[in-house]
Amino acid sequence: MNYLIVGAGLFGSVFAYEVAQKGHNVSVVEKRAHIAGNIYTENIEGIQMHKYGAHIFHTSNKEVWDYVNQFAEFNRYTNSPIANYNGEIYNLPFNMNTFNKLWGVITPAEAQAKIDEQKAVLNGKRPSNLEEQAISLVGTDIYKKLIKDYTEKQWGRPCAELPAFIIKRLPVRMTYDNNYFNDKYQGIPIGGYTQIIEKMLDHPNIEVRLNTDFFEYKDELEGEADKIIYTGMIDQYFDYEFGRLEYRSLRFEHEVLDMPNYQGNAVVNYTDAENKFTRIIEHKHFEFGEQEKTIITKEYPADWKPGDEPYYPVNDQKNNELFKKYFKKAKEQEKVIFGGRLGMYKYYDMHMVIHEALNCVKRELAE
Ligand code: FAD
Ligand code: UDP
Repeated sequence: MNYLIVGAGLFGSVFAYEVAQKGHNVSVVEKRAHIAGNIYTENIEGIQMHKYGAHIFHTSNKEVWDYVNQFAEFNRYTNSPIANYNGEIYNLPFNMNTFNKLWGVITPAEAQAKIDEQKAVLNGKRPSNLEEQAISLVGTDIYKKLIKDYTEKQWGRPCAELPAFIIKRLPVRMTYDNNYFNDKYQGIPIGGYTQIIEKMLDHPNIEVRLNTDFFEYKDELEGEADKIIYTGMIDQYFDYEFGRLEYRSLRFEHEVLDMPNYQGNAVVNYTDAENKFTRIIEHKHFEFGEQEKTIITKEYPADWKPGDEPYYPVNDQKNNELFKKYFKKAKEQEKVIFGGRLGMYKYYDMHMVIHEALNCVKRELAE
């Protein structure tokens, strides 16, 4: 078979590698000047810089963990971000350290009593949006200091208009445990993520064309391929025929600083409204770096307009309904498989993308 893969990100690269291993020919087109999509990391001053935002690998799926470990050695990094609310520092995710600092409570029962007291404002209503969900999980103080402004900066709309599931990504723990994730396996690939994708695509059956936008050469490329794996925006594939899906974009401001340690942690969230960025990443701490310099990145959320990078799908009801129309049409395409964060319009993390890509290959090769 001749496969054409649109997008050299994680989804496209796993698919490419797996079918190439089975002897098929693969051609990958990528519109950026580099492979690896949003997990791209670049060596600057001996530090692996996560060019498109902090990427921490975490999963409870052993198959996915073993799979990704074939391509890199992972370190023991555990994500424990801190929040800076107008100079007050709190541990994340919301756990006994957070509750103790905020309320002086010592035991889980005291913390729970405080949350129960504060969530009474909901009068027992079942949460139907992010604001209500947050208050019901952690009460009004944490909602105000650690969630409301951060979330409204991130998504550009009031919490009461956002889907509840977004906040359910974060654990709430009645233990003194600052691990941001509940997953069994977690770490950062020593030497960065780009090597993983390089190893996948460095295969005699795979040809990669960078700086190549699929839509510029669509007819020609489609003609050459028996099957297409498309990991770009699903609405763009169908020329926006049902209307445009919404995305959220980001602007990254990278700085090299002449000091060894800027903030003492890889991730510091700014949960206030005044700072327009949501977080500052200090990349060296992902790999316990001891370089003389440091690199930081400020992450500014931004409205998305055509031509901008679509970092996040906006999975609210309106957009999910619209996606369903595109998905129905996608299913009818015999020659095209849609995958990844943009192809499926889903807030997928890396482990989910690998899982989906491996399943997709299994289905494809079984046919
Ligand atoms: P992408 O990486 O977006 O790859 C798609 C590729 O297709 C891109 O390279 C794009 O340029 C290319 N493309 C699109 N259209 C065309 C076209 N027309 N022609 C040619 N090429 C095209 N996940 C985690 O597990 N942990 C984290 O900590 C984490 N942090 C994140 C932080 C941020 C800021 C963001 C945005 C995401 C984060 N993720 C994280 C999610 C992770 O980035 C994704 O799960 C993963 O990168 C998705 O891979 P993909 O192949 O679906 O998409
Ligand atoms: N969030 C928050 N305060 C924080 C961190 C996260 O309110 O300090 C909320 C915010 O709505 C965010 C969601 O939790 O969109 C999910 O956070 P996560 O860190 O998983 O976001 P991502 O890394 O995907 O941007």
